[in-house]
Amino acid sequence: MTKTVNIIGAGVAGLATSVRLAKLGYEVHVFESNAFPGGKINSGVLGQYRFDQGPSVFTGPKYLKEVYDACGEDFSEFELIPLKTSFNYFFNDGMRLQLSNERTQIIDEISEKLGEDKRDLTAYLDKAAKNYEVIAPMFIEASLHSWRNYTGKAFFRALGRLSKYKLFSTMHDENVKAFRNPRTAQIFNRFASYNGSDPYKAPAMLNMIGHLEMNQTPYLPKHGMIQITDSLYKLAKKQGVRFHLNEKVEEILVEGKTVKGIKTAHGLYPSDAVVSNMDVSFTYERLLPNSTRPEKTIRQEKSSSAIVFYWGIKRSFPELTLHNIFFTDDYKAEFDGIFDTKIAVDDPTIYVNITSKYVEGDAPEGCENWFVMINSPIDVGQDWDVEIVRLRRQIIKKLNTILGIDLESLIEEESMMDPRTIEQRYHGKQGSIYGNASNNRYAAFQRHPNFSKQFNNLFFVGVSVHPGGGIPLALNSAKIACEYLEKRVG
Ligand SMILES: Cc1cc2nc3c(=O)[nH]c(=O)nc-3n(C[C@H](O)[C@H](O)[C@H](O)COP(=O)(O)OP(=O)(O)OC[C@H]3O[C@@H](n4cnc5c(N)ncnc54)[C@H](O)[C@@H]3O)c2cc1C
Repeated sequence: MTKTVNIIGAGVAGLATSVRLAKLGYEVHVFESNAFPGGKINSGVLGQYRFDQGPSVFTGPKYLKEVYDACGEDFSEFELIPLKTSFNYFFNDGMRLQLSNERTQIIDEISEKLGEDKRDLTAYLDKAAKNYEVIAPMFIEASLHSWRNYTGKAFFRALGRLSKYKLFSTMHDENVKAFRNPRTAQIFNRFASYNGSDPYKAPAMLNMIGHLEMNQTPYLPKHGMIQITDSLYKLAKKQGVRFHLNEKVEEILVEGKTVKGIKTAHGLYPSDAVVSNMDVSFTYERLLPNSTRPEKTIRQEKSSSAIVFYWGIKRSFPELTLHNIFFTDDYKAEFDGIFDTKIAVDDPTIYVNITSKYVEGDAPEGCENWFVMINSPIDVGQDWDVEIVRLRRQIIKKLNTILGIDLESLIEEESMMDPRTIEQRYHGKQGSIYGNASNNRYAAFQRHPNFSKQFNNLFFVGVSVHPGGGIPLALNSAKIACEYLEKRVG
């Protein structure tokens, strides 16, 4: 008899799980509290401008290809545009770097502008590549909670490079040692923000994230990031997955050590297994209030949150590209503000993403759709209404100075998102966008596994569980959870 699986949440991890499970022959139902699938990967329109609402940097497309491969679909149909430049960097004193889409040219640019030795940059990027190749099969692409992971070839390969990971050092410590110019270290420190962490605390091993951006061609999906959601949703429907949008799960039904299904306002839905794509803390707090909560895991430090302004800009800027970073002068103070004092600094690093540089129709002729984001502390009860007025003013002031413009007069459409919205809309605890931070060397081992230790047929996917935050990792969580589910549920 066909077995049924209920999935709570249609984020990228929930969608990828649904595709994989349907292909394995399960009857799959996905329950999503929002009216749209995709979770944080969704799209919005303001007047004549379209905006990707959440993620904008697409690293590791191979993990999306794996979902296509798993159901025998052709990934070349998912059209990717190779970017001409990867990132433009701006410093407060007027210095600008334009990093190309190609590693040797990136090395040339950093060497020329920041005075680095090309051999140091080459060695750094080679090391990031080797570390990634050895670490990913164990820490990202497999479960850390299976003894098999510690007896296979991948484990011994990873062990063989132990001295290279600098286990007792932070990303920043290693980056200042590797380079002459503190600005080069700042560029590489920034990769900590790709999983919502602090480079002054995160383990040096995370410097391998740079490999995904600087050693590999950067891409954007042809229709913007929303294409990731649209394509997975289409794939899932093609595999027969049934979606229940606008239907929030209120409880996971339990009998002894077995999960029996879920409850929503529309009724009870029995199933042979349940997969939660909801933040793991909220899954325990809200859906399993009578279960024993894995307190230690749940109490881990949360990742950063974000404040995003979506601005329709009635001018175009040839000096800007798809990804633009306007750095702070004091990166350490910025991360202290995010993780320690929980107050964003007056001079934050600003990220401006402009998909209309590549995606036709995202802005009217001669105009641009600016997604302007700063990393922010999670919501601990700050007076956000006051904070947002302050930070908006600071952001505009900084961009005016560096670009020599009067930005306020160019904004013709506006909307915004803050940590409160992120919690309300996506159920990310306190507005955290990547689950837990990786701000200590044990963080990877302290994440919740992709299965439940209490209930034999309950599984977890998404950024709040192993292997962690960001689209590539969320896609891997789906793969690992499906492997467990197939073994345990049959
Ligand atoms: C502003 C911003 C910028 C980002 N930038 C990047 C980036 O550049 N690159 C990158 O890789 N990542 C980025 N991220 C992170 C990325 O969005 C996430 O890592 C990824 O999309 C998370 O996917 P997920 O499946 O874990 O969860 P989510 O997208 O959070 O999906 C979870 C879903 O579960 C639903 N849900 C929760 N509880 C219930 C319930 N009880 N019943 C029914 N449904 C429920 C929610 O409504 C939601 O749709 C960014 C995120 C944000 C917010």
